[in-house]
Amino acid sequence: MDVTLLGSGGNFPIPMPTCDCRICVEARERGLPFSREGNATFVHDAKALVDAPEAIWRMLNRERIADVEYVFVSHHHSDHVRGLRVVQALGREGFPMSDWEKENPPTIVVSENTYQLLRRAHGIVADYEDWGFAEFAFLNDGETMDCNGVEVTCCGWEMEPGGENLIFGFQFDDGESKTLVTPDETKFLDTDRLPSDLDLWVRECGLFRTGPDGNPVFGDDLWEAETELEITFEETVEQVRDVRPARTVLTEIDELFRRSYDDFRELEGEYDELNLRFGHDGMEISNRVDALE
Ligand SMILES: [Zn+2]
Ligand SMILES: [Zn+2]
Repeated sequence: MDVTLLGSGGNFPIPMPTCDCRICVEARERGLPFSREGNATFVHDAKALVDAPEAIWRMLNRERIADVEYVFVSHHHSDHVRGLRVVQALGREGFPMSDWEKENPPTIVVSENTYQLLRRAHGIVADYEDWGFAEFAFLNDGETMDCNGVEVTCCGWEMEPGGENLIFGFQFDDGESKTLVTPDETKFLDTDRLPSDLDLWVRECGLFRTGPDGNPVFGDDLWEAETELEITFEETVEQVRDVRPARTVLTEIDELFRRSYDDFRELEGEYDELNLRFGHDGMEISNRVDALE
């Protein structure tokens, strides 16, 4: 299975407009792989995108991706869905146009909970469904669907203890390898539910309390409040140790983490035994048995 990490960023892309910190200055000057625009993953065999940040238009162009049939949505937060409007471009008819309605519209795959939240917050039904730009399909926790011969299973969990299932991950199984994509909000993901034979886990990185120089990123009170619901990098490593996939690629890497591409390369050296890598925008990941890496 071939996977492209279209975007390895999170809620705070790199460079942040108006910021002159060392991370943002470097990213502005050097571009990829120093810049990070948002969180999105593309699974080629399934022709499936997971999440649609604002920059998804540019990401698809940049990677020359020409065929997207499914857009899976992990959760309703703005930084993961503000680019859903890209369905306008997907599967468009040739010219001359006779109708806005497409013959083969892309399918936006969401849980029923996510659909209701998107409907309220973003008016998506009027924007997409009524125009015929896209169709919606529901996939709830534990349900499976076929995408171009790849079996996709949804795993859902709560954003806060005792809450409803609002966060979703998607497992792609082509019969030869298993890839799990859990882009964000993994604090309350029950790792006991995950398969023990994952070949690849693309997952949230988690927060760092300090920069690489040891200077705090968050004041004590904010750190305490944030980490009630947000996973830390250390907790992410624990989850990876629990699941032990063959490879892990971390995404949702925020400007707030105060680390450059080079800092992450250095840090990942400490986790060689886990085969854990920090992703970057445009990273190509192959799960093929004959892949060299
Ligand atoms: Zn900055
Ligand atoms: Zn989120």
